[in-house]
Order: sequence, then structure tokens, then C-alpha cells
Amino acid sequence: MREHAAVPEAELLQHLRSCLRVGRLAGLWLLDLHHFRLLCHGLGDDAGAAVLTEVERRLRCALTGRSRWIARVGADEFAVLDELTGSVTEQDGRASELDARARELLALLVEPVQAQGEWIPVDASVGAAVTADGHAASLWAQAQTALAAARALGAGQVVVYSPDIGRGIQERIRLLRDLRRAVAQGEFYLEYQPRVHAWSGRITGAEALIRWLHPRRGMVPPGEFIPMAEESGLIVPIGQWVLREVCRQLREWQRQGMPLVRVAVNVSRLQIQSSDFARTMQQILEEYGVDPHWLEVEITESTLLLRAEAVRETLQKLQSMGVRVALDDFGIGYSTLSTLCHLPVNTLKLDRSFLQWADDAAVQVASAIIELGHRLRMWVVGEGVETARQWQFLRDHRCDELQGFLFSRPLPAAEFARVLAAETLHAPASWADVEGVWQARERQG
Ligand code: C2E
Ligand code: MG
Ligand code: MG
Repeated sequence: MREHAAVPEAELLQHLRSCLRVGRLAGLWLLDLHHFRLLCHGLGDDAGAAVLTEVERRLRCALTGRSRWIARVGADEFAVLDELTGSVTEQDGRASELDARARELLALLVEPVQAQGEWIPVDASVGAAVTADGHAASLWAQAQTALAAARALGAGQVVVYSPDIGRGIQERIRLLRDLRRAVAQGEFYLEYQPRVHAWSGRITGAEALIRWLHPRRGMVPPGEFIPMAEESGLIVPIGQWVLREVCRQLREWQRQGMPLVRVAVNVSRLQIQSSDFARTMQQILEEYGVDPHWLEVEITESTLLLRAEAVRETLQKLQSMGVRVALDDFGIGYSTLSTLCHLPVNTLKLDRSFLQWADDAAVQVASAIIELGHRLRMWVVGEGVETARQWQFLRDHRCDELQGFLFSRPLPAAEFARVLAAETLHAPASWADVEGVWQARERQG
């Protein structure tokens, strides 16, 4: 195999030194392509060279003018050096800026590279480090350590250097290994959080939320393992399991003669961006004999960032099958209002942060979002309702449905079914009644 020239380290350090300015915070990101040798063996050196050229082109296109240094520094490694905006003393801010910028680099590689008539997916990891004292050699060494850790974690991983990097990484590697086992051994289950009608408080649907009961650690919250599942690609099998489990449960409830409500399922960017998502969904619905109208998929705004056209097509297919589409955590992400106009979306879920800020500006924005959703003929759901005041606010601003701890926490399937059945039997007559019912339920819970 032809070796791709690596620049001698002394030369690199020399250059790095000349770019660093004393007293300025500078970040160094090292990006490493995965399976590059394998790719050269499989598709030939020319394909490998084309991939490197394209990766470098994308980095330069996105970063030139912004970064102080962009270079290929190894056979399949790239370096980016830039000054940070954060203050020299703010530790946390630095780490999150390094992390965010590393993810921007990875996002440049999501689109496969075309070479030799093939679309080649490019996987990479990033290690990052920061310096305030302009010491090139230690910056370089720390970024290398972070990159080694990122490589060990696998494709799509970002590691920011810290002195206790070893411990943190070992912990993440263990969690990732456990997550793989959890997928194979089925350690997940679903809980269902009721969605209620904004006026009557009656259950109109539910959101299925995944739970991981780790044999040793106990419950691992989704906020901890979903990002890892997304970075490692494990979200695809996990997401399929969630879809199947929801359909199996709906069939089971139907078989038992239970009242059915629509169930919303969180679907990750990686799932929806795979070309056959709509087909997989159709197959699962058919396999379990579930009417598509009982399902809603929840996507987040970040799903719309890349391959927007393909995502739109998939959403349209889902809608034409009868599956509803919801935009989750709306208002805190990246989607522009112009994208929203043309999106096949039925439901907007107003992010719960709008209810927490509770200042006048947040209130104005929240009510404008509800209005916007309605003008676009969308259904608007308020998330994270915890107090009667928030309920009242959303009701007064004509939000359609609500979800939050005030009404119910996420419940195991059997308990959700019991609550739903009881409510169907004892439908409350007025709002005051409804409030009483929920408060009693909270006390019981
Ligand atoms: P999400 O889709 O926005 O789900 C709502 C989250 O808010 C849930 O957290 C829920 O328990 C929580 N929540 C509901 N009402 C309240 C409230 O009144 N106050 C507060 N503070 N929180 C409330 P959970 O179950 O921890 O899930 C967190 C996130 O993990 C979800 O946010 C979703 O993004 C992701 N997730 C959960 N299940 C799945 C899944 O099956 N697949 C995928 N891809 N992501 C999932
Ligand atoms: Mg959701
Ligand atoms: Mg949400």
C-alpha cells in the first residue's frame, strides 16, 4: 500500500509554535479517520487519496478565514488550530467550546464521499486540547492523548483532554461495552408518559420513553446513554427495538380490549437519515398489525440539519402511511423558520425550558410559538408542565395538549393502561374535577 506522507513532528511543532500567541486561549483539534487502511485495501489507494482530498477540502471550505491552521498531519489525521472565544479562567466553558467545535468538524463528514463511483461513508474521531500559555509541545501531546482516547471509544467520538482523562475514558468505554451487551441481552423497557388535552386534562396519548435497567448500576437515565448510543451507531438497533416494542404493546392492548391512544416514539437523526426508515416502519406496523394512525414519530430540530431533502422525503412517506410527525423540544434548536414552513410536520412540542424561564420575554416567545404552530396548522404540545400556573398559561394561550409531571410521570406499561382504563370509566365533567383527579393521582403516585 502506498504510504501517505506524514509530516515530521518537529516540523509540525515548529509550525504550531508560530501560530500560537501567548496570552490567548488556543484549541487544537486532531481528527482521525477510521478504517482508512481498510478502505485503501478494499477500494484501492486512489479511493483513499480521494477521501483524504475531500476531507481536507471540506475542512478548508468550512474553516478557512476562521482558523489559524488547518493541516494534514498524518496518514489519515488532520489538525485544526484556532483561538477560543471563552475566557482564560473558565474551565467548563473551554471544554464545552472545544467539544462543540469538535462536533462541528464531525458534522462535516456526515455526508459520504464520492470516489471511484462509490459513496464512501467517512467515520472519524476527534481529540482536543487547549492551551493558554502557548506551549506547543504540551498542547500537541495532550491533543494526541485525547485523540487516542477518542479512537478507543470508536467512530464519532469526541474527547477533550483533561488531567483525569484516563478515569473518565475508562468509564465511558465500560458504559459503551455495557450498552452493546444491553442491546444484545434486552435490558431495556419502555415507560409511557401521558399526554393530556389542555382543557380537560384527559389522556389523549402517550410518549414512549426508553429505560435501561443496568444489572449493576441500576437505572441509567436516557440522557446518559442516548448520546453514546447515537455516537456509536447503537441507536439504530435500539431505535428499532423501541418501534417494535411500542407496536407489540399496542397490539397487546388491542387484544385485551383496552382503549387505545396514540403513542409517540422518539426517533434519532441516524435512524431517520437512513434511506429505508419508512420501509422498516411499514414492515414493523404490518408485522404487528397496528394501524399507523396510532403512531407519532418525534424528531428533533437537529435531524433537519443534514440531508434535509432525504429527511423530508422520509417524513412525507411516513405521513402518507398515516404516521404523524412531531418536532420535539422545539424552540431551542437550529431549525430556521423558513424550513418549518415546508416541513411535513403535524405537531410542535414546545420545549420545556420556555416554562422554566418564567420571565416576560420567554412567555412572549412561548405564546408566539403556539400561535406560529397554529398558523401552520400544527398541533401544539406543551412539554414539562409541572405547576398549575404553567398549565393555566398554556391553556390560556390555546396550547392543544400538555405533558408533564403535573399530570403524570412516565409510567410502566401496565400502570399506564390502568390509569387510562380508569379515566375512561370515570370521565371528569369539569376542569376543577380534572385538577382534583390529577392531584389525587399525584398523591397516590
Ligand atoms: P424528550 O423526548 O423531550 O422526552 C421528555 C423528557 O422530559 C423525558 O425525560 C421525561 O421524563 C421528561 N419530563 C416529562 N415531563 C417533565 C416535567 O414535567 N419536568 C421535567 N423536569 N421533566 C419532564 P427522559 O425519559 O429522561 O428522556 C430524556 C430524553 O431522552 C428524551 O427527551 C429523548 O430525547 C431521549 N429519549 C428517551 N427515550 C428515547 C428513545 O426511545 N429513543 C430516542 N432516540 N431517544 C429517547
Ligand atoms: Mg420526545
Ligand atoms: Mg421533548
